[in-house]
Amino acid sequence: MSITAPRGTADILPSDILKWKYIEGKISEICDKFGFEEIRTPIFENTELFERGVGDTTDVVQKEMYTFNDKGGRSITLRPEGTACVARAFLEHNIYSKPLPAKLFYLISCYRYEKPQAGRLREFHQFGAECFGSQSPAVDGEIITLAHTVLTELGIDDVTLNINSIGCPECRKKYNEALKDYFRPHIESGELCETCRGRFDKNPLRILDCKSPVCGKIAESAPVLLDYICDECADHFEKVKGYLDAVGINYVIDGTIVRGLDYYTKTVFEFKTSLGGAAGTVCGGGRYDGLIEELGGAPTPAIGFAMGIERIILALTDNGKMPDFESIPDVYVANIGDESDFYATVLVNKLRKAGLKAERDLCARSLKAQMKYANKIGAKYSIVIGEDEAKSNSAILKNMNIKTEISVSLENADDILKAVMEEK
Ligand code: ATP
Ligand code: MG
Repeated sequence: MSITAPRGTADILPSDILKWKYIEGKISEICDKFGFEEIRTPIFENTELFERGVGDTTDVVQKEMYTFNDKGGRSITLRPEGTACVARAFLEHNIYSKPLPAKLFYLISCYRYEKPQAGRLREFHQFGAECFGSQSPAVDGEIITLAHTVLTELGIDDVTLNINSIGCPECRKKYNEALKDYFRPHIESGELCETCRGRFDKNPLRILDCKSPVCGKIAESAPVLLDYICDECADHFEKVKGYLDAVGINYVIDGTIVRGLDYYTKTVFEFKTSLGGAAGTVCGGGRYDGLIEELGGAPTPAIGFAMGIERIILALTDNGKMPDFESIPDVYVANIGDESDFYATVLVNKLRKAGLKAERDLCARSLKAQMKYANKIGAKYSIVIGEDEAKSNSAILKNMNIKTEISVSLENADDILKAVMEEK
């Protein structure tokens, strides 16, 4: 039996690659306007980074990581997300000693052992942005505006922004007690799942993000943090809303969002869309003022988000906003026999240098078969080079669509370039 790709992974074939490049290009362009610079980190990291940086009570760390020992016996994990990786790089390269805030973005593949379905893969891709070094609510506004701009400029026109504040460790103390009081009877009755029973002591907030339907149902009526928020966090949240109002971004306050990762504080948010079937949440993010300290750095406030590229593609395909891309050759150079073989090679390279997409026969096919091929790949023009053409440095340029023919000089690419440009 032939070998197939591992479950939950997908090849990105040439027919789709231009869609990916388009999305990545648009993202890079918008990030540049916002003053965010790209960073690339390794696909794998020491496992400890995610245990500390994502949190060992999260689903991601407890159930979804691809972790293995390398040949040197080190525990290695394929990155399940980008924030911890970028935070590590921020510390490792003293980025904190450069002018702050540091504004970084990334386009990466991520790995999670999930149950594959539409919009949920084991290898998937994220665009993420992180901003380190400011606790001002203006950054929360800026980062949410960046995510919103990317989604809307790409054409996901029906996004809803849900926001919440999950407070600081101070307000969470009181809240954790309230949560425990609420969940305790459900622990005692054995209704909550085993993972949540562990979370009850360590981090009851995590129970609110459990994917088990039973736990989810119970969590629906749990107390919400907004009722326990301290004055400082409440003020921060008000200002964040003010920035969103100022730029006209609509939002819904949703007290049930806690986000899947342990390190979030204050603002958390998600962008959802009904497009793309099961795609659901296209972007999630929030403030994580405790992460850098958790990883051994000085206390450094930070905020960021990540969006799933596969889910963006599903949404854009669903609403017809994914542009059609095709890569068609401008000119196909056919040749007759050995005499004109090298001539054809020189000619296609001359045309490429002039900026045209030019191809020639690479299979030693007959002239008839070459022309059939030129038709199949949709070449706009063709030129046939025989002995006469090679000698006279001139040939007939045939428009493959409207079947017109003109005589062109082959000395340089000028005549051909002119004809192709006129059609464009
Ligand atoms: P979900 O609740 O859908 O599992 P999450 O909270 O685990 O999402 P994050 O860790 O916040 O997701 O990742 C940010 C974004 O990355 C998500 O909003 C989603 O668009 C995308 N994403 C997450 N997991 C996957 C996956 N397994 N396959 C494809 N995209 C994903
Ligand atoms: Mg998840």
